[in-house]
Amino acid sequence: MARALIIGAGGVANVVVHKCCQHPDVFEDLMIASRTLSKCDAIKASVKGTKTRIRTAQVDADKADEVVELMRRFKPDILINVALPYQDLSLMEACLAAGVHYLDTANYEPPEVAHFEYKWQWAYREKFRKAGLTAVLGCGFDPGVTGVFSAYALKHHFDRIETLDILDANGGDHGLPFATNFNPEINIREITAKGRYFEDGAWIETEPLAVKRKYDFAQIGVKDMYLLHHEELESLAQNLPGIRRIRFWMTFSEKYITHLRVLENVGMTSIVPIDYRGQKIEPLQFLKAVLPDPASLGPRTKGKTNIGCIFTGTKGGKKRKYYVYNVCDHQECYAEVGSQAISYTTGVPAMIGAMMVLKGLWRKPGVYNVEEFDPDPFMEQLNLCGLPWVEDSKPTMVD
Ligand code: NDP
Repeated sequence: MARALIIGAGGVANVVVHKCCQHPDVFEDLMIASRTLSKCDAIKASVKGTKTRIRTAQVDADKADEVVELMRRFKPDILINVALPYQDLSLMEACLAAGVHYLDTANYEPPEVAHFEYKWQWAYREKFRKAGLTAVLGCGFDPGVTGVFSAYALKHHFDRIETLDILDANGGDHGLPFATNFNPEINIREITAKGRYFEDGAWIETEPLAVKRKYDFAQIGVKDMYLLHHEELESLAQNLPGIRRIRFWMTFSEKYITHLRVLENVGMTSIVPIDYRGQKIEPLQFLKAVLPDPASLGPRTKGKTNIGCIFTGTKGGKKRKYYVYNVCDHQECYAEVGSQAISYTTGVPAMIGAMMVLKGLWRKPGVYNVEEFDPDPFMEQLNLCGLPWVEDSKPTMVD
């Protein structure tokens, strides 16, 4: 039985709390701490009939010393970081100071540059190793389950993986002309960046949303998907030995892309502050303030997500293909935990990752990406905790 400190009180945190409370045998005591205390209290109030004890607190996660102070009082075994990527380093520092294991779902991004990379967090490897603490990076769905799927494919289906295409489809419809499914600022920073993929040992850059394909997704149908740079590409290129090519694809509707292009063209997606009536305003921050809060989309989002990995490679000298994916229904998620599938598919793996660390199954001192751990107990929990996976040995390939 253990204690977990959950940082953040957004859509993903809501799911993490609900799912931890479904496992009181592992999560005996939770603390939800975030910038806005009322949001932590609202999550606490929404959990019904659990044996897990829940407390709440206000904290500024940019200030490591505030978090350390909180941990000295609460004495958690693990910190689950589901705030924003900007807080990753201060929270890792806090964990080192307080002697607490760490887990997050998104890699560090400096607030002033729209650029994510693992180098800042990987730089903590030695410190965590020496402290005897485990840090699990990127334990949502993508990154997260996509890394676990990769480790599972390598362990059970391939001697060598040659190519990997990660396909992230959202067939959900919230009925609004334009809204993002998770934090608008993080989402738009990701989508408006240049595309990037790994091939034959080199990184190839494309213009933003320049490469498009159609794919027929199980339970969703045919969708346009675009090649994006995504953070797990960086770790998987290192952790899948001999891999020749890795690409990441995400679906967007034409309507979404049109809105985004207009917002970009008028300068609303910029993170460079402008002067407005004597005040400095960052256009993207302002845009975030006028867009719907992703958490409010839960009740109105219908449809399904389908996220998975298509591998090619060899086993016993024979060529093989293997597709493993999960389909998740927005309304079923909402009925269960009060959040739509984007938050659900992120929050469930974060809870499972924490469970793996707390049970000692994923405990090794240092800083690791999920594909560096044994995938089997995690894959088992995905089936038990609401994200069952499907295998297909004859998938349609992405050309
Ligand atoms: P939200 O914006 O809904 O929630 C973020 C929460 O963090 C808010 O409660 C916010 O507080 C809190 N927060 C922000 N800054 C601070 C701070 N300095 N101190 C304390 N709390 C702070 O985001 P989501 O729940 O949608 O996403 C959470 C994380 O999950 C993000 O990092 C996102 O990138 C990641 N993610 C990962 C995915 C994956 O598959 N790996 C997919 C989707 C998301 P306040 O309420 O006051 O604003």
